[in-house]
Amino acid sequence: MRITPYIPEPKEAYTFNLWMQEECLRFYVEQRKAHCTYMEIMDLWLLAPYCASCAQSDPFFMWNYPHVSADRWQVDLLIHTGTAALDLVQKARGDDSKFSLRCKQCGEELRPWKGDAFFVMPYHLEEHYGVPLEKPGHVVPPRNLRAKVLSLYDRQCFNCGKNDELHVDHIRPRARGGDCAFRNLQPLCKQCGDAKGNATPGERQVYSTMYFGPYPSDGYEGLFW
Ligand SMILES: [Zn+2]
Ligand SMILES: [Zn+2]
Repeated sequence: MRITPYIPEPKEAYTFNLWMQEECLRFYVEQRKAHCTYMEIMDLWLLAPYCASCAQSDPFFMWNYPHVSADRWQVDLLIHTGTAALDLVQKARGDDSKFSLRCKQCGEELRPWKGDAFFVMPYHLEEHYGVPLEKPGHVVPPRNLRAKVLSLYDRQCFNCGKNDELHVDHIRPRARGGDCAFRNLQPLCKQCGDAKGNATPGERQVYSTMYFGPYPSDGYEGLFW
């Protein structure tokens, strides 16, 4: 099984782009729910295995970037991606003796336990997929953005889950320079909004390691799993 990247015709590109951004936001919210409190803004990174030739031809490649060598791949993987990726690999190998990692760029199969060394490339989700990050000077979210925030967060207060008296909150308050980028917005009920006040939020770095586990079946049509 192999996932072939979908390349749209130009006339479809616009719709495709919208779909892709929607997918990114859906995944962003899912990860934020799993890792952050309502007082935190999230930076979401996707970690991906890269074969040596793809890594070296990437314009953002840095020569000293984490390298997983064959002879100590478990330790290297642990150091560069954390326990989650190592657990995924171990489980996938247990379930399927033919399991391999694959280069995110060219699809080459990578089996460090059989001598393949590889690199770990980090993608910043929004930058990589062109999801608007900051909107300096724009503080009032337009109506469609508010609707999107409410629907992607399931019309529930991000802190307590209540679904009445919701408003779209600026995680970094407007009084502290917060703008209306999607990443800075969340639904809160009145009580939680009042409790939050004008406090300065924290920032959390979250790393997704899904590319170190098995890819979904061919029937799966999303970008993230
Ligand atoms: Zn490659
Ligand atoms: Zn609440």
